[in-house]
Amino acid sequence: MPTDQTRLPLSNRIDKVAPSATLAVDMKAKAMKAQGIDIIGFGVGEPNFATPEAIVEAAAAAVVNPANYKYSPTPGLPELRQAIASKTLRDSGYEVEPEQVVVTNGGKQAVYEAFQLIVNDGDEVIIPSPYWTSYPEMVKLAGGKPVEVFAGADVNYEPNLDDIEAARTDRTKAIIVTSPNNPTGAVWSERTIRDIAEWALDHNIWVISDEIYEHLTYDGVKTTHIGAAVPQIREQLIVLDGVAKTYAMPGWRVGWMVAPLAVAKAASKLQGHMTSNVNNIAQRAAIEAVSGPLDAVAMMRDAFNVRRLAIVAALNDINGVHCPMPEGAFYAFPNVEGLLNRPMGPNGTTFTTSAELAEALLEEGHVAAVPGEAFGAPGYMRFSYAVADEEITEGMRRFKEWAEA
Ligand code: PMP
Repeated sequence: MPTDQTRLPLSNRIDKVAPSATLAVDMKAKAMKAQGIDIIGFGVGEPNFATPEAIVEAAAAAVVNPANYKYSPTPGLPELRQAIASKTLRDSGYEVEPEQVVVTNGGKQAVYEAFQLIVNDGDEVIIPSPYWTSYPEMVKLAGGKPVEVFAGADVNYEPNLDDIEAARTDRTKAIIVTSPNNPTGAVWSERTIRDIAEWALDHNIWVISDEIYEHLTYDGVKTTHIGAAVPQIREQLIVLDGVAKTYAMPGWRVGWMVAPLAVAKAASKLQGHMTSNVNNIAQRAAIEAVSGPLDAVAMMRDAFNVRRLAIVAALNDINGVHCPMPEGAFYAFPNVEGLLNRPMGPNGTTFTTSAELAEALLEEGHVAAVPGEAFGAPGYMRFSYAVADEEITEGMRRFKEWAEA
């Protein structure tokens, strides 16, 4: 019988890394479902829509073309790099060369590589928190030190330049910008984005801008692309993006980086020893996705908007829960401190952390959500509302009943 122990130790590097908490919640919820328990899952951030047909057809055509059975260029198919350069002009409003684009296995690999390319041992990376759960672990894997700068629900999760400046030291190498944001759903103002760019220019700090939710904004709010707002920053800017959220393609695993030419070349060198080219079939599908229309994302955005309004209203209707209205992505991120330190749930248990609360909500209430601890924000919980409308109604009914029992 295999065990969790190895006979010989693993590396210090891997021992320092925490497992992905969002994937862990999803795994636990799926395991409970497999036992026949009816779970409503708000855990994982993936659209509940099928990939649009034209994209699937492009992949189907690619799979019977033997040209796609060979290795292809490590930084991506030339047509895809060109299509991403054109898409950058269309969506972000500035020109880049196809040579500045590197296609990766999901946006996740692009984020991972960005830190590998610029971080030396002991370098600090400022991570505005609440943050996407993988950033600090990726910084550690690159030998760096994550430095968190927190902004809570009281300020709509918008980081403040004074706090960022207070966290700066002579080891600060980079800052990460995520807007629209996972987990908070916040869309940072143009003022904040400009401030960060100008501050980074003044202090020679790299900016890593994760723009994977760029098309998911509501109430007429628009994503500010930092490279368009402050053009000079492009010399020290690495933009990360992918098809997962915009085209309902999380499982296809295509993302990319847009960076200064020397950075893109370095990324390609790294990838040459790590993964080589991304699956050609998925790249052919991605060409269709990024060069096609944005109709599918408009349809999804409308559907998400209805759910956003429903889930935020339902969360705020639970005694002890406070949820600001998110303007982007597909996450609601309520403060749940009002549920802590008092008897809760059918068994009258008292919870002191949001992690305990989330675990009990899953086990007793059969609702899966990710505790704020996974995002550097204890006292909060993340609910992905990229799920069916009925699941929002039923999941929120269960949460309220459980919380107010
Ligand atoms: N960045 C952020 C902020 C994300 O939320 C995600 C997906 N959860 C990614 C990057 C990575 O996306 P993928 O690897 O699926 O393209």
